[in-house]
Amino acid sequence: MDEIAEDDNWLNASFLNCQNCQVALYRVDHSGFHDCHFLYCDSCAICAEVDFYDPVYAEINRSLVTDAGKSKYRLIMDAIEERLKPCDCGGKFLANAARRCYSCAAVVLQDTPDVDLYPALFGVDPDEHEITEQEEQAAEEFQAKFVRTEDLWKP
Ligand SMILES: [Zn+2]
Ligand SMILES: [Zn+2]
Repeated sequence: MDEIAEDDNWLNASFLNCQNCQVALYRVDHSGFHDCHFLYCDSCAICAEVDFYDPVYAEINRSLVTDAGKSKYRLIMDAIEERLKPCDCGGKFLANAARRCYSCAAVVLQDTPDVDLYPALFGVDPDEHEITEQEEQAAEEFQAKFVRTEDLWKP
């Protein structure tokens, strides 16, 4: 049964613990399921969610001319990083910032621009464990506190 589960695991999802505070975390590849990019603060656990339908993102995407030296992805990320307002903590949102523990802000993953890090709760399989109201609320609180979706851009 385990083998089947592993074959299914095409997003490289796994649970891990913060080495600093031991809180349970969940890492997963940022997949095509998301219509957005996440850029992470370089000094805390907050990330900025840039929706593909965001007008500023659309404008950046349109205005970029591909040059031979850099991938379009990197060009877009450079442009987004330039335009995003700093984090509340004063840090800068970067595509390749270290992924930090939401609980203690210790660095958990480095050089993993395609990986998102969440509280372990986000990795729970609802077929195996019914999400309680309390957990749902905890997930919403995480989103509200650590995922910035509004007021993203510099004027
Ligand atoms: Zn921690
Ligand atoms: Zn920050």
